[in-house]
Amino acid sequence: MARLIDAGPGCAPPTPTRSNETSTALGLVYDDAVKAETDHLYELASDFITPIEWPAIAPLVAAVNRLKREKNAVILAHNYMTPDIFRLVGDFRGDSLQLAREAAKVEADIIVQGGVHFMAETSKILAPEKTVLIPDLRAGCSLAASITGEDVKLIKETYPGVPIVTYVNTTADVKAECHITCTSSNAVQVVEHVAAEFGSDRVILVPDQFLARNVAAMTDIKIMTWPGACEVHELFSADDVEALREAHPGVVILAHPECPPDVLEAADYAGSTAALANYVSERAPAKVVLLTECSMSDNVAAENPDVNFVRPCNLCPHMKRITLENIYECLTNMTHEVTIPEDIRIDAKAAIDAMLALPKMEKPLDFETGLKPLDIELVSTPRLAVDA
Ligand code: SF4
Repeated sequence: MARLIDAGPGCAPPTPTRSNETSTALGLVYDDAVKAETDHLYELASDFITPIEWPAIAPLVAAVNRLKREKNAVILAHNYMTPDIFRLVGDFRGDSLQLAREAAKVEADIIVQGGVHFMAETSKILAPEKTVLIPDLRAGCSLAASITGEDVKLIKETYPGVPIVTYVNTTADVKAECHITCTSSNAVQVVEHVAAEFGSDRVILVPDQFLARNVAAMTDIKIMTWPGACEVHELFSADDVEALREAHPGVVILAHPECPPDVLEAADYAGSTAALANYVSERAPAKVVLLTECSMSDNVAAENPDVNFVRPCNLCPHMKRITLENIYECLTNMTHEVTIPEDIRIDAKAAIDAMLALPKMEKPLDFETGLKPLDIELVSTPRLAVDA
């Protein structure tokens, strides 16, 4: 079992603490049938769920798995889901792009998105014939909320002929207005491709200013951006990196490229969610910290029992709105269905398809560390001028 070391006081436990009242309130009991269905699953979660808590959680797990079979449903579990969801009921696990690809090809009638709303929209864009459900409509994202399709229209008017790339963490109406999407695994490849296609030496990359600055440090293309940020990753600082090195000598520090550039400058390695997981499983450092969402670190820890993990303690409040309880309610009541107007869906799909048509990268992009942070230009639009 991996050893989990909290980086700071007040770090939340990997899974929510539950009592038997959790299941009984939903009319579920830990009986012999539930035991038979779930006993073999306990070992997947024994790092995170005590034997005392298991009778409170097992009935929920059994009920969710039964509903999936009855309704021909699957659960797409993002890496930032708590380990009880990720390991015990998730049918497909991964980052937002991996999940979207599964959504497009899975043979199921219903997709339950274990993730936030823009991810559920992406599933619907790629799998319009399936019913896509999200257990809590309030599961948003600070990046997705920072920009609208109207904003992108204004950017296009202000910068005609300049290609606009959107990070996948945006709503369908934003994707519909952009030329192509990107992920943190392929952002440099997408930017360079679209610049060549448009014959432009500039590319606008929205909405994450930190991802854009980290990409700008790795390409000769001039990058302009939008003042969005992930409220989880923007909390990390170069001072945190220094404090971690002092408190945990020898720790290997890995950072997600949604972190500010001075964090990447100070880190040992940087890359997308998939790249960080690959780094840990391939290099098996003795002690590691992943400067990203804390449940991601817990889920990678579960796969790498010989590695000691310093837990980063930053949780995404939107991802944490998805629970085993509301997944059960979502499958029971078929709530909440995600829909997208067809014209927007088609245009958004074109932007995603443009990315998927690029040659598949052999492995996710490694972001360079140790580079001096670059300042890059923000786009100028009437709304930003008003907000300023
Ligand atoms: S971790 Fe950041 S980017 Fe991911 S859903 Fe939460 S706010 Fe959005």
